[in-house]
Amino acid sequence: MLTFHDAQERVLALAPRMGAERVGLEQARGRVLAEDVLCPADVPSFDGSSMDGYAVRAADFAGDGPWDFPVHGESRAGGPPAELAPKSVCRIFTGAKLPPGADAVVMQEQVTSPVGDFPGSREGVRARFVHPVSPGQFVRKRGADLRRDALAIARGTRLRPAHIALAGTVDRAWLTVSRTPRVVVLATGDELRSPGTASRGDDTGTIADSNTIGIAAMARRTGAHVAIAPFVADDLKATMEAFEGALADADVVISIGGVSVGDHDRVRPALEGIGVVLDFYRVAMKPGKPLVLGKRGRSLVMGLPGNPVSAMVTFAFFGLPLLRAMQGDENPLPRPQRARMGRALVHEPGRLEFARASLTREGIATPLDNQASGAGAALAQADALVVIPAECTQMAAGDEVDVYLLEELGA
Ligand code: AMP
Ligand code: MG
Repeated sequence: MLTFHDAQERVLALAPRMGAERVGLEQARGRVLAEDVLCPADVPSFDGSSMDGYAVRAADFAGDGPWDFPVHGESRAGGPPAELAPKSVCRIFTGAKLPPGADAVVMQEQVTSPVGDFPGSREGVRARFVHPVSPGQFVRKRGADLRRDALAIARGTRLRPAHIALAGTVDRAWLTVSRTPRVVVLATGDELRSPGTASRGDDTGTIADSNTIGIAAMARRTGAHVAIAPFVADDLKATMEAFEGALADADVVISIGGVSVGDHDRVRPALEGIGVVLDFYRVAMKPGKPLVLGKRGRSLVMGLPGNPVSAMVTFAFFGLPLLRAMQGDENPLPRPQRARMGRALVHEPGRLEFARASLTREGIATPLDNQASGAGAALAQADALVVIPAECTQMAAGDEVDVYLLEELGA
């Protein structure tokens, strides 16, 4: 049985890389950048004002204040170029270009009129400055944010809105990103029916499928194109045919259920029967011990266990990283954060365990009472998964632990 971390390594090592395509900035969120985005010109491209006020020459403020200067001209954002006349100051507004000769800005709140209120237009009026001025104050220097030819956004970045905004700043209307994988989700089990199709008096033990829609929603967060296949009966031939059909349309087939060792678990034999090479089929983790990874040609198959919590947890730690790694994501694995245990627990050593827990703003993680791998309600109520290392035998309240936010996991 593979350790959790070895299994994650296997998944990342096996991930085939997708090709690239261009997308407009509005379509780029969550996609993975497939090029280095360089800065074609200095950002900002000119020295400008970061305040509403007056553009001045710092050298004019020698000796002791106050200093009075007449106001001549105006520089506003996007406006025509202004000039700084000798021994005068120029009105300037946030985002406006600094007039040639000016090297500092005085904010307007610090400027008064020596004769009372300023008139509506300050053109030609004297303004009084009481504070000394240092060169460069309230000036956004050309290139202060990014220099020409600097790396603005690195290949392999999963694009957040801040990256997309920066792409706009460096004058890009489109970006080269990885294509997203085509995923087919295929649920197995004679007991499954679609949600909302219960018939009265049905006592055959059918259940409403919950995993398919949950896993599909998670996969779509990586940008994947997700198709959902019809339910597959617990029958070897039907399972082989279903995988064969799914593999024809998918870069990754995600199956749910049928991967353990029960008489009706057909996934492993079906995969072997159609020539899928299995890389592993068991991982030392809880929930989720049976977990299959296989490959045929360029396509991968990941077989998740059927219990709803197991399916979502294994998909969060193996499926999502796979779909991200296929897109060249430099950071495909979810990132834990530190928290403190809200209560003690005992743990049977052997498998790494993820406990569903509440997490307070203060970082106190308290495992919920129901840790059953089928308890989807507890997963939905939880904020985070607490990592209980495989070798751990007990934890005390207050112990530091790694936790994964379910929001961050995309579950
Ligand atoms: P299996 O992994 O097929 O042995 O299934 C384990 C448990 O998960 C059983 O109780 C199944 O009924 C349940 N299960 C399997 N597939 C699904 C599904 N798609 N939605 C909800 N529960 C499921
Ligand atoms: Mg089953």
